[in-house]
Amino acid sequence: MKKREVKLHCPKCNWEPRQTSNWVCKPGCRHSWNTFDTNGACPACGKAWKVTQCLSCLAFSAHADWYHELIRDETTEEQKERVTARLTEILLQMEEVGME
Ligand SMILES: [Zn+2]
Ligand SMILES: [Zn+2]
Repeated sequence: MKKREVKLHCPKCNWEPRQTSNWVCKPGCRHSWNTFDTNGACPACGKAWKVTQCLSCLAFSAHADWYHELIRDETTEEQKERVTARLTEILLQMEEVGME
């Protein structure tokens, strides 16, 4: 099983935005918000920002380029779950035997 995970970082310098990072709608209504909460759309005036400026290196990049998809292999987790399920089964069987 593979799980998709999205990481956010600047495509130019790899800076990762924080929850508290703020962008200003400029030129626009000057509202400030975290642009990654809304996929680049200003919640105050509805302007859709196609580019996002990095707060670290100040370069502009396409908003979509900030999303980096990671594909994580979850085989180990799944195997662990299977082992736990098997153990529960064995314990139940022991209980049944003890009852007799
Ligand atoms: Zn950057
Ligand atoms: Zn705005």
